[in-house]
Amino acid sequence: MPTTRDYYEVLSVERTADGEEIKRAYRRLAMKYHPDRNPDDAEAEMKFKEAAEAYEVLSDDSKRKIYDQYGHEGLRGHGAAGHDFNRMNVDDIFSMFNDIFGGGGGFGGRGGARRGPARGYDLETEVVLDLKDVSTGVSKDVEFTRMDICDTCTGSGAKPGTTPETCGTCNGQGKVQQAGMGGMFRMVTACPNCRGRGTVIKDKCDSCHGKGRIGKKRSLSVKIPAGIHDGQAVRVPGEGEPPGVDVSANGQGARGDLHVVVRVKAHEFFERDGDHLLMEMPISFTQASLGAEVEVPTIEGKESLNIKKGTQYGDIFRIHDAGLPNLRSGRKGDLIVVAKIETPKKLTSKQEELLREFAKTEDKHVNPESHGFWKKITDFIGG
Ligand SMILES: [Zn+2]
Ligand SMILES: [Zn+2]
Repeated sequence: MPTTRDYYEVLSVERTADGEEIKRAYRRLAMKYHPDRNPDDAEAEMKFKEAAEAYEVLSDDSKRKIYDQYGHEGLRGHGAAGHDFNRMNVDDIFSMFNDIFGGGGGFGGRGGARRGPARGYDLETEVVLDLKDVSTGVSKDVEFTRMDICDTCTGSGAKPGTTPETCGTCNGQGKVQQAGMGGMFRMVTACPNCRGRGTVIKDKCDSCHGKGRIGKKRSLSVKIPAGIHDGQAVRVPGEGEPPGVDVSANGQGARGDLHVVVRVKAHEFFERDGDHLLMEMPISFTQASLGAEVEVPTIEGKESLNIKKGTQYGDIFRIHDAGLPNLRSGRKGDLIVVAKIETPKKLTSKQEELLREFAKTEDKHVNPESHGFWKKITDFIGG
């Protein structure tokens, strides 16, 4: 069954995202939820397939147009429904979009020969921003752990002073040929003895236990552009993991990327709606009736706002350019102020007197004066 979720939501991109952004978003999710990294995790596999489905549609201009206009139903109606990814296996999905994973993709080696230099794994980390950071853009220090080249053995996995030996099974090729289908054809697979490395290690490095890789902490300052939305990611090229160690990579592969996913904290007053900010502004019923100049908090500080005479509950006032900058254009949205009229809970006797006078002019029925009224009641009950 295809997903029922919004494709833009699946990929965490805006509806205006361009092809490059959509590609990057898909790449990140495919890396994150790839079953190689999430073994026996049905939810990750579902998310992996869902992302592929969203990408298939949003990366195709004509399908995207139909989807934007008519949604999921529209794609089926126009005969533009894509593959049923749930019925496809992960390797096939991965190779379908192989071009965006840089050939080998860091995953391409599953049971087959890699095409071109392998790329290291992408990594993902999170930063939390508040709306002020979103408004101005900000540099954030991020700290993450990545599997990196072991310093002790410089990545070879062999004890210093020793070297890995050429694998006898594949003669250092990293691949072996096997007869398939009763000898009808030959299949090339990764060498089972050296797992595609082409070398075997007799004396293992103590630091990394022969893996050649070791978990290292890394911290970086990452520039987050103004106007970014919750769930969007900033890509830092080349800060992912180093390429694989198999022979076909030949040390030429590129590091993966780091994706810094942005989380935006909820604000006390403001709710975000695209680039606009919404807030409820409590005003008194006299301000609403007579009109007033009030101070409204903004992200930057405050602004004065003219409340018109006769303002109703729910009336909307706009302060132009007091919203958030657009991620692409930098143009600012508005601050949208919704009037919330408050009725006083307590009145002084003077205020009450004035309001009673006012009520008379309205010719509206109001309750009798409270102390007198309650006195009568207590007299009645007590009497
Ligand atoms: Zn080592
Ligand atoms: Zn081998």
